[in-house]
Amino acid sequence: MNYTKIDFDRELIERCQTNAPRYTSYPTADRFSLEFNQETQLKQLAKVFDNELSEPISLYIHIPFCNTLCLYCGCNKIITNNRALITTYLEYLAKEFALYAELFNGRKLPVVQLHFGGGSPSWLSIAEVHQIMQLVHRYFDLSFAAEIAMELDPRHVTDEFVEALYSEGFNRVSLGVQDLDYKVQKAVNRIQPLEETLRVLNKANELGFKSTSIDLIYGLPFQTIDGFASTIDTVINVLKPARIALFNYAHIPQLFMSQTRIREEDLPSSSDKLTILQESVERLARAGYKFIGMDHFAVPEDELSIALDNGSLQRNFQGYSTFADTHMLAFGVSSIGFVGNSYYQNVKDLDSYYRSLDNHQLPILRGILLNQDDLIRRYIIQQIMCQFKLNYPEIENRFMLEFKRYFVSELEELQRIEEIGLISISADGFTVSNKGRFLIRNVAMIFDKYLQKKRDLARYSKVI
Ligand code: SF4
Repeated sequence: MNYTKIDFDRELIERCQTNAPRYTSYPTADRFSLEFNQETQLKQLAKVFDNELSEPISLYIHIPFCNTLCLYCGCNKIITNNRALITTYLEYLAKEFALYAELFNGRKLPVVQLHFGGGSPSWLSIAEVHQIMQLVHRYFDLSFAAEIAMELDPRHVTDEFVEALYSEGFNRVSLGVQDLDYKVQKAVNRIQPLEETLRVLNKANELGFKSTSIDLIYGLPFQTIDGFASTIDTVINVLKPARIALFNYAHIPQLFMSQTRIREEDLPSSSDKLTILQESVERLARAGYKFIGMDHFAVPEDELSIALDNGSLQRNFQGYSTFADTHMLAFGVSSIGFVGNSYYQNVKDLDSYYRSLDNHQLPILRGILLNQDDLIRRYIIQQIMCQFKLNYPEIENRFMLEFKRYFVSELEELQRIEEIGLISISADGFTVSNKGRFLIRNVAMIFDKYLQKKRDLARYSKVI
């Protein structure tokens, strides 16, 4: 399959438009149960960490603080300029690390990937980043770490901050940008001159960060076809990041309070939004960026592009990744981890987080222990989202089942989407077509057992 070729079939996209999960996990987080508690988690952890765990794990640390509010934002964040709040949060992060470490029997677990997300982790001071990294080093062995990454908000990142990250061993940064048009920035309360973003990127490149990435959003208020084309051209020609994530703005003011301050009449029409997306992906393809999947693009020499080509691409909570499916320990409010055969999510507010840790309890809100059917479907959805194909004999050997008997209704659905051009079916599997790659969630959701009823879809974002 030629993954550089872009086949944006507007008619097909319009016909297949629906809401669907993003499948950063399966089952998706909204299926996690409140019955999954500290006891269940401790059993899972014991199963994994009591044995001589040899393969490295991943770590995620959530820093929920930001200093200003971007109106479009749907993240779990706390807007504050009160540094004392951060000081307290770090004390409790230390308690959470120590609680987990009690289960490691004095071993320092090897880590392959460490990711700081938020909120705005770059709202931390240099000293606070150092404090967290010391904590990580106390309990984990980072000498195996292939990737140490942080999400940056260029508006408050100094050159010294980027240098400090580099000295701490960080090798990847992703920068929130969204749109370079001043009118759009003003409408979403995120004024960010190009020079600020360029300065941070230049610093990261000069120091030798392995990869830089930029997040953009289409569908924001006052975005126009020409205006966003100009943003994309500047990103390609001036900022030149190795990776670009181009997200669809989901306007759900009933869920996200700050979005009530965005007027619906200022948003681009759905037809304009689709044209903005089409123009963007075609411009990126012409500039040599590879379409990785869903909303991710990368230059050919980036690890994501290489992983796409050699079939090793993965998907986890941070989106597309090059790391094999590892256990992931997640720290901080609302963070989601995966240990053994279970997902877990921490409590979402500071008070509950502090209360659990004061009581010497893991701050777990909910989770799910995957049964055999979940594991089979999780693997299949991962294959579809990352390899864009499925081989039935491989699934049969791996899970000891007969594909055609196990997935009767799914096979009927696959035939239906073949007729409209999303996939092509062969004797022993199917391959997603180039035009179907934009609708990959439509293909993956066929195997989602939890999506029984149409009304279930309302909770997810639009596929395009
Ligand atoms: S977009 Fe980022 S910086 Fe803005 S409010 Fe949300 S988490 Fe904070």
